[in-house]
Amino acid sequence: MMRIAVGGFQHETNTFAPSKADYAAFAQADSWPALQSGAGLLTAFTGMNVPVAGFIDAATKAGHTLMPLVWCSATPSAHVTEDAFERIAAMMLDALEGSAPFDAVYLDLHGAMVTEHLDDGEGELLARVRAAIGPDVPLVASLDLHANVTPRMVAQADALIGYRTYPHVDMAETGARAAAHLDSIFAGLPRQAKAMRKLDYLIPLTAQCTLIEPAQHLYAHLAKLEGQMLGNGRVGSVSFTTGFPPVDIADCGPTVIAYADTEAAAEAAADALAAEIAAAEPRFREKLWSAREAVAYAIANADGGHGPIVLADTQDNPGAGGNGDTIGILTELIAQGAPRAALGVLYDPESAGTAAQAGEGAQVRLALGAKTGGAPDEKPIEAEFEVVRVTDGEFLATGPFYGGSRMSLGVTVRLRIRGVEVVVASRKAQCADREMLRHTGIEPANLAILAVKSSVHFRADFGPMAREVLVVESPGPNIADLSKLPYKRLRKGIRVMPMGEGFGG
Ligand SMILES: [Zn+2]
Repeated sequence: MMRIAVGGFQHETNTFAPSKADYAAFAQADSWPALQSGAGLLTAFTGMNVPVAGFIDAATKAGHTLMPLVWCSATPSAHVTEDAFERIAAMMLDALEGSAPFDAVYLDLHGAMVTEHLDDGEGELLARVRAAIGPDVPLVASLDLHANVTPRMVAQADALIGYRTYPHVDMAETGARAAAHLDSIFAGLPRQAKAMRKLDYLIPLTAQCTLIEPAQHLYAHLAKLEGQMLGNGRVGSVSFTTGFPPVDIADCGPTVIAYADTEAAAEAAADALAAEIAAAEPRFREKLWSAREAVAYAIANADGGHGPIVLADTQDNPGAGGNGDTIGILTELIAQGAPRAALGVLYDPESAGTAAQAGEGAQVRLALGAKTGGAPDEKPIEAEFEVVRVTDGEFLATGPFYGGSRMSLGVTVRLRIRGVEVVVASRKAQCADREMLRHTGIEPANLAILAVKSSVHFRADFGPMAREVLVVESPGPNIADLSKLPYKRLRKGIRVMPMGEGFGG
C-alpha cells in the first residue's frame, strides 16, 4: 500500500482564440467540476468520465492511500494568464509539501497548455513538481489525445499516458491506466526507458477521429505494440497524441511516446508507430465541403436509405471556440428547400426568449442567429418561424460522450421554416447527444439531413445512425483548413496540412 499525491490542471489552449483563461475560469464549474482541493477532491468526480476519476477509483481499489493536491480545469480558450498559472502552480506545490511523505505523484493534465509567459505550461509544471519531489519519486501524468507533447514534459515525468479515443470516451479509463502503470513501478520493475517522436505534419481536428480511418487502425496497432518483446526488451505503455493544431508554438503537432524495459525496445516501438503514422499522411486529408455543396449533395441523396446525412458545422463548434450561432448551413438548408432537415443547437437567447413568449403554435418574426460575430460577414436570418415546441432546456444526456450528465440549455425552442427545423437554446453547447434534439420532439434517426454544431464528438451518438457524414467549412472561428491560420512560430518544415507545404520553407 502506497501513498500517492493526486492533482490535475487541465487547459486546451488555442493561441488564435479571442479570450484568455484567468483564475476565475479555473475556479468555477463548467461542464466539469469547479476547482477542487482537500478531501473533497477525492469524491468530487465519482462516476464521471474524467481521468482523475478513473485514477482515484483504480488506485483506491488497489489499496493505496491518496493525498489530494489541487485539481482544476477551464474551457478551451486562448492563453492561460500568468496570474492563473502561477497561483495554481503555487497551490499545487504547497499541497505537495503539505502532504509529504509520499511514494508517487499522479497528475491529470491536458498537454496543450500555453500561458502568457510559457509555451509549455505542462513542461514547466512537471519540472517544478519534479524539483520538489526529487529524482527518485515516480511522477506519472495522463494526457488528452490533443496534447502537444514537448521533450521537457517527457523528460520530467516517469510516464505520460494518453487517451486513445476521439470522441474521448476513455478519459476515466486513461486515468486507470496511469494507476496501473504506477503499480508496475511499485512492483519493482526497472525504471523504464523512454522514446519520443514528433511527426512532420499537423492533423486537422475533424480528421483525428478514432472511429474512422486512418486513426482507427493506428490505435489498434498501438495497442498491439504494448507488451511485445522487441529485441531483448518488453514494450510498456505506448501513446500517440494527435495534437491540438491551433497552437502557434514550436512543439505543436502529433507525438509518439513509448516506454520499454530497454532503450532499444522503446526506440524500436516509437519508430514502428511513427513510421505507420507517417505512411498514413495522405489518408488524414479530408474533404471539406462548402455549405452550398454539402446541402445540395444531401438533398440529392436525401431518400437514399435510413438515417440522416449529417453535416458537421465544425468551424462554429462551441467545444473549440465557436459560439454556435453562425448561420451559413441553415441559410443554405432554407434556400435550397431541404426536406426533413434539422439543425442543432443554435445559440440565440434573444430569439429563444421571443419565440417562447409567443408560445407553441405561434408564428413569429425573428432575426435568428449571427449575433456574436463568429462569422463577421453574416447577418441574422430575418424571417417568420413557426414555434413548434418550447422547453426549459433541462434534460438528461444519454449518449456515450455526455453520458448521463444533466444538460441545462436554458429556455429552448424548436422552430420550423418550411421543411427545416432549428433547435435554438439560450446557452452554448456542442451538439453531441441526440437528447439535445429529442427533448424538443425531433427524432434525429428519422431526419433526412441533420446539421450539428460539432467537429467530432457528435460521432459518438450520431455516427451509428448517420448514413454519411460531411465535414462542412462554413464561416466560423474554428478554422478547419489549417493552411489558413496565421502561424508564425511552428518548427521549420512541418506541414500544416497533411501532404501540404512545409512551414517557413
Ligand atoms: Zn481533446
